[in-house]
This record gives sequence, C-alpha cells and structure tokens, in this order.
Amino acid sequence: MVAEADKNCSGYSDSVGTDTELKLGDYIIMKILVINCGSSSLKYQLIDMNDESVVAKGLCERIGIEGSVLTHQPTGKDKYVIEQPMPDHKVAIGLVLDALQDPEHGVVKSTDEISAVGHRVLHAGTKYCESIVVDEDVKKVVRECFDLGPLHNPANLMGIEACEAVMPGKKNVAVWDTGFGMSMPEKAYLYAIPYEYFEKYEIRRYGFHGTSHMFVSGEAIKFGGLDPQNAKVIVCHLGNGASISASIGGKCVDTSMGLTPLEGLIMGTRSGDIDPAVCQFICNKEGIDINEMLNILNKKSGVLGISGVSSDFRDIEAARAAGNERAQAALDAFIYRVVKYIGAYTAAMNGVDAIAFTAGVGENDIKTRKAICEYLGYLGVKIDDEANNIRGERRVISSADSKVKVMLIPTNEELAIARETLRLTK
Ligand code: ADP
Repeated sequence: MVAEADKNCSGYSDSVGTDTELKLGDYIIMKILVINCGSSSLKYQLIDMNDESVVAKGLCERIGIEGSVLTHQPTGKDKYVIEQPMPDHKVAIGLVLDALQDPEHGVVKSTDEISAVGHRVLHAGTKYCESIVVDEDVKKVVRECFDLGPLHNPANLMGIEACEAVMPGKKNVAVWDTGFGMSMPEKAYLYAIPYEYFEKYEIRRYGFHGTSHMFVSGEAIKFGGLDPQNAKVIVCHLGNGASISASIGGKCVDTSMGLTPLEGLIMGTRSGDIDPAVCQFICNKEGIDINEMLNILNKKSGVLGISGVSSDFRDIEAARAAGNERAQAALDAFIYRVVKYIGAYTAAMNGVDAIAFTAGVGENDIKTRKAICEYLGYLGVKIDDEANNIRGERRVISSADSKVKVMLIPTNEELAIARETLRLTK
C-alpha cells in the first residue's frame, strides 16, 4: 500500500529553479515573513524575495515564562532588545510586527509590505508532502499529528493561529519538515514490524530536516551543474541533530531519521540507530521506564554519551587534542556511522554523483569532513585539502579528478520556506 501523499510528491522539480521564474512578469514581489515556532520560542526572518536578502531577523525567547525577551536584528542596523511579558505566541507575533514597523528599528512601514507568512511545521503524517496554503483542513492535520510531533506541532499551530489573529487575511503557508521524506518508496519507509501498526497508527519512517535536505540537494544540483532529473545526491546534514539523505533528481529515495528524529546517525545527544533490546536491558537493570529510557536516548546519548565531555564538536575535538580517549572514540563512531550510511545510500541508488555537507558540523568542521572523505577512496572520492580549508561557504571541496563531486553547501531553511511560500501565494 502506498500512502496517498506519496503518489502526489513531485519533490525537487517544483521547488528548484523558481527563484528566477518568479521575478518575471508584472507581479511585484514583496517580502515574506518566515516563522519557526518552538514551544517557548519563535524565530523569524523577513526576506525580500526580489534578491532573497534578509531584511531583518530575530528571536522571541521564554514565551509563556517569566523573563520573555525579543531580540530583533534589522540588517545593517543595531540590534534591538525588548524585554516585555509574552504570555503566548499571539503576543509574541504582535511584538515582532511592532518591531518590524518600529520607526527607528523597523524595516517596513506597514504589514501591507509583507505578502505572506511561511511556517516551518514539523509533521504532516502521511497527509501532505507538498507545502500548502493553510486553511481549516490543514490546521486539522497539524492537530491530528500532535502525537507524532508532540513538542513541535502544537507550537507550530500556535504560530499559525497567532499570525491569523494578528494579520487577518494574510496567507499562511505550511512547509513540512517531513515533506521531503514522503517521496521515499515503501521499501525504504516500512519498518519490519506487524503491518497492522502501519495501518492503524501510520508507524513508518518519515525523515526530518526535510527543508534542509530539499534546499541543499537542489542547490547541489544547480551549483554542481548536475542533471536536474537524474543526479544522485547524498546530503549530510551534520549539526547537533544530524541526518543524511539520498535523492535522485532532487526527489528523496531514503533518509536516515525515522518515525522520530532519533533514528540514523549518531548526533550531539541522540543515539541514532540502536538495537531496541538495549532499552529493555537498561530499563530492567536500572529500574527505569521506557519514557526515561527515551529521554536518555534523546538527551544524554550520541557524542555526549560516548565522550562524557559535551555535545559540541568543538569541545570534543579540544578534549581529543588533549588526549581524551573517549572523545576520540565518540568522533570515530560519529564519522564511521556517516560513512556507513554513505555506502548504503550509494548502493541504494546504484551510484552517487555528489555528496554535500551542511549544518553546523558539516559547514564548519574541516577535520571531520576530511576524515569522512578519506573513507571514500573506493568511490573515487578525492578531497582537495586547500579547497576544504573553508567554513560556511558554498564550494566544491573535491579535486578536479575526483569521481564524485564533494561540496560544502550552507543550508538555508528560512530561504527554502520563503521560496515555497512565494511559489504558493504569488
Ligand atoms: P542544530 O540546528 O541541530 O542545533 P547546528 O546545525 O546549528 O545544530 O550545529 C551546531 C553544532 O555545530 C554545534 O553543536 C557544534 O558541534 C558544531 N559546530 C559549529 N561550529 C563548529 C566548528 N567550527 N567546528 C566544529 N564543530 C562546529
């Protein structure tokens, strides 16, 4: 059985290449507000779609908690910090709009200059793979998926409803973090557990970081001059949360996160793949329940768990340099897991044309990128040390005679959301 949403997934072709087309014609492109809501936080960016520049960005913290603060950063102007109670997301959005229109620190005269709002929404279950203009049905799906995304979906819905309340009539677009993974074929998304759980509860692999994988795989195809229909690309999104995807022509064929973001790579604090029997064993030995165990797998494992030092690669690398053997073991295990997935995805696609590194570690950690690539000699990967000696800049880091193009492509989830929002509301 193939879920309804899968059949309609068009993946990359709808979302890449639109930036030039959208500038044609008489339509005056204005600014898109991108919102990413957490349970007590709200990140935003206002993007001018004429040149895709960030006009302002900011962050509301401690929403619903004492000590709420909004930090507003207009491009080219001083930071503006407002400490004011924010009992809920609606008040927070109101303050963001005030900051955007502030005579001194603002960047727009009125909200008329904001053409639409794009929201990062975590989970759409099997209902949607494509981004969509929000209506009552869409909000119902976000609500129905609270079980699947208990930390994020409620906050995402609060963000949408806050925008509806504060800017009535303005279109809101939901861009799903699970969207990219929805084009995975059945053989990649099914867990080998009784099928009834898939039927009853939609237990399957979904994948996360979808906006980032969509953006980076699309940019890798454009930047690397690859065939937009057939290019086989592996994206390594290596941050505190880490995931890896395989896509053909920008359409995801496999990705490492599963029902939740816990599956796959070793991460900052998440274990990634593990024998489920480990959970039972530890629960019995330590007298803890499955909820506590899951908390350990999410928050106390990964490179933090192995090293005992930190979840931050900079700290672990410093500890390794000082001779800490567990720090060495954590980094070795992290790299080894990435390399195993690259091998598996190359096999799944029967080849690979490009490998792209992105996110905090992928964009900044020169040594880790090199260590991963050194495993890949069997694929004809050759890293150019000079080209690789770079942080946070789009660049081909393999040598001219490398059989696979290796690239550093900084991710930009906000821009990906803004492009989707513009595409659906222009
Ligand atoms: P997330 O969005 O999942 O929280 P990021 O993509 O922002 O994570 O990545 C954050 C991580 O990037 C940090 O925890 C750190 O491990 C890593 N990182 C950032 N800069 C560097 C650097 N210069 N060298 C090594 N690792 C880095």
